Amino acid sequence: MKWQEYQEAVGVLYEQMSEMGEVKKNITIPDRITGQPRQIDVWWEFPAGNHLIKILIDAKMRTSKLDVKDVEEILALAKSVKADKAIIVTNNEWTAPAEVFANPEGLDFLVLTIDEATDLIVDGKWLMCHDCQNDCVVMDSDGAIEIEGKINWWLGGKCRSCKTLHIICQSCGAKVMMKMNDSWKCNCNFEWTNKEDYYEFKVIEENGIEDYQNPNQMKIDFN
Ligand SMILES: [Zn+2]
Ligand SMILES: [Zn+2]
Repeated sequence: MKWQEYQEAVGVLYEQMSEMGEVKKNITIPDRITGQPRQIDVWWEFPAGNHLIKILIDAKMRTSKLDVKDVEEILALAKSVKADKAIIVTNNEWTAPAEVFANPEGLDFLVLTIDEATDLIVDGKWLMCHDCQNDCVVMDSDGAIEIEGKINWWLGGKCRSCKTLHIICQSCGAKVMMKMNDSWKCNCNFEWTNKEDYYEFKVIEENGIEDYQNPNQMKIDFN
């Protein structure tokens, strides 16, 4: 998942959660002293009496835990744009010192996993990638073939990031994932190969490998 998408997902999350006020995504607000534009991931404003409460929400997609330095940065940004409160949304965790540092400043942490983030913004999401664990698989390559009057069908899709192909053969129930250029044969003697922009599907006959009759139907785009 790209960071821009994670930022978008955090915005969608707050749009869904905010019962009052207004949520703005990816905006700039001038620095209170210099007037320089500061980039804001998500900005939530709502009225409380005569006051307008302003909440700064920062999206941090990370492979390691957030540390004190991250907390300092967000607190400085919150001050710069005159936010009443700041929230860090991250897919990972934060260190104990970061939490100690954040608590007295009223800065909150919220976990939004990549799984949850992709739920919010990816159309046709099928499942999380079992290979890289860092993005989801979109089911965009299911297919079917009739053999001796029996319909055999499968579900398939590639990970949006690592392109690993995930296949479930409905006929035999086998599930597998294949890295690029890997092949796999299920119990029905069907064989898939993960290619750059498509996958190949073959029916393996007892007297050797025989391609499915219509080669064009074997190539399925993952656009
Ligand atoms: Zn992946
Ligand atoms: Zn099968």
